[in-house]
This record gives sequence, C-alpha cells and structure tokens, in this order.
Amino acid sequence: MEIIDGRLTAEKIKNNLATEISELKKTTGRIPGLVTILVGENPASQVYVKMKNKACAKIGMHSEQLNLPKEISENELLEIIEKYNRDDNFNGILVQLPLPDHINEDKIIESISKDKDVDGFHPVSVGNLVIGKDTFYPCTPYGIFYLLKEYGIDTKGKHVVVVGRSNIVGKPIANIMLQKKEGANAIVTVCHSAAPDLKLFTRQADILIAAIGRANFITNDMVKDGVVVIDVGINRINDSSSAKGYKIVGDVDFDEVSKKASYITPVPGGVGPMTIAMLLQNTFKAFKRVVK
Ligand code: NAP
Repeated sequence: MEIIDGRLTAEKIKNNLATEISELKKTTGRIPGLVTILVGENPASQVYVKMKNKACAKIGMHSEQLNLPKEISENELLEIIEKYNRDDNFNGILVQLPLPDHINEDKIIESISKDKDVDGFHPVSVGNLVIGKDTFYPCTPYGIFYLLKEYGIDTKGKHVVVVGRSNIVGKPIANIMLQKKEGANAIVTVCHSAAPDLKLFTRQADILIAAIGRANFITNDMVKDGVVVIDVGINRINDSSSAKGYKIVGDVDFDEVSKKASYITPVPGGVGPMTIAMLLQNTFKAFKRVVK
C-alpha cells in the first residue's frame, strides 16, 4: 500500500510555479495576480482566504484580499467584480463561498469573467469541462486528477466510482475522469444518497473517490482488494486525546480500508493541500494566456 502524499505534491507544484513566475517576470516584467473577495466574517472562510493569499505571496504571485461587510448589496458586489474583470493586474478572481443569503451566488459566479474564473465554477467553464474543451478545472477535482497522474495510476478503462454529486467535487471529478484523454478515459459511476445499497457500487471500484462529508463512512467491507482510494472528506470529530478536543478525519475509515487499498490519500495531507496548489496553477494559466 502506498500513501498518496498531497502535501509533497502540492509543494512540488508551488515550487515549479515559483520558478516559472520568476522567469516570466524577467522576460515580461509582469507577475500573475489574484484577488480574493470575502463577504462577511465566516471564520472558516476567513481562514481559507488567508491561506490562499499567503500561498500567493510564497510563490511570488501578487494578491489582494478584499474584506467586504456582510451587509454589502448584490449590486455593489457586482460592481466590484466588474472592476476586477477590467483590471489587467488581476488574472484570477475568487469569490469565497458561501455568500450571505441576500446575495444570489449564481449571479455572482456568472458575473466573473470566464477568463478569470480560476475557481472553475462559471457555467461556461463547467460546460467546457463537460464537452472536453480547454478550461479551468475546479480546484479540488483538478487536485484529484493531478494526484492520480502524479502517482502513475492507470485510469484508462478502469472503473472509477464517485460517491457524492456536488457541483464543486462529485460532478466535476466524474466529468473529468470520463474525458477521452490521458490521465482519465475511465468508466465512471456516480453515487449519492438515493443509492439503495451503496456497497453494490463501491465494491466494484478500481478507483474510489469519496466526497460525502461523513466521517469514516466508507468501511473495509465496502471496497475490494487493491482499490485506489481518494478521500476528499474533511470532517471534525471529538477527540479527547487532542489538545483542541477534536481531530480531522476523512470520509473513509483509513485504518481499516488502507489494509485493502493499493493507494490511499490520508486526511489531512491528501486532497486538501492540493486545492490551493491548483488555484495557483489556474491563476498562472490565466496569466500565461495574456502574457504570451
Ligand atoms: P456536499 O455538497 O454536502 O455533497 C455531499 C454528497 O454526498 C451529496 O451528493 C450527497 O448525496 C452524498 N451523500 C451524502 N450522504 C450519502 C450517503 N449516505 N450515501 C451516498 N451518498 C451520500 O459536499 P461536498 O461539498 O461535495 O464535500 C464533500 C466532502 O468533501 C466534505 O467533507 C467537504 O468538507 C470535503 N471537501 C474537501 C475539499 C478539499 O479541499 N479537500 C474541498 C471541498 C469539499 P445527495 O446529493 O443525494 O444529497
């Protein structure tokens, strides 16, 4: 059994980006820029946005963090986004979700220029992903795709079973793995909460991708020997032995399932660190489209 190390892979991506950015800076005099827009004071969102800006600084990417009050109107937010759509210093625009209830998330996502949609949530990006055209992959699914490739895991003709059909993980990763391209070309099954007997599907998986949001939900009896397991879940459970009183676990019972798996991502340290790395990768991609 081999552990798929997302931390190490993410570091490699960031180091490569830092080198490429510094080289392009010499030849073009420009560096990529990302603006992160946070509305309100959701503590988890504050942490994520801070991590994203810190990661930009570390690789020599310009970033700006906009902290907007939760009372901001939808129109005011749309105007701010339009300003960044027109600003050549910014190649990526990220609006941290969720937004307050009085703001229509779909409308906001659709207002981001598709050329700066580094989160990959714009309907045009999603449509291009489905029909196999060049686009920005949403960051977490992109991270999963990248990890499978990095570890040389054969996907062609393999049965990928995805548990979860969210727009940010389940649906996009299923569509990516379905593409007739290197690193994908798989037979894909997508499961969700209406599956009468989930085991029937998960036991058939050569590659199992769990994006459910339930701690230790995938157990040993739900997988076959040799399965490749990608655990996207981030769940907080009580842990009296930890100073914080809790610990983070995935959707997969790691201790038991790892006995049967050929490869498995740990939580933390698997898919999680890849999400920010792929956000940087997408922003760099947007930058390269305009500087070359
Ligand atoms: P979500 O929007 O809540 O979707 C969960 C999916 O799991 C839904 O499709 C749901 O089915 C399905 N599901 C729930 N219970 C099930 C059951 N008993 N059997 C089969 N399917 C079931 O969650 P998400 O946003 O995709 O996130 C999933 C997990 O990944 C969460 O723990 C989240 O924190 C984590 N996450 C991690 C990253 C990262 O960077 N590593 C990024 C995003 C998310 P229905 O559609 O039928 O309700």
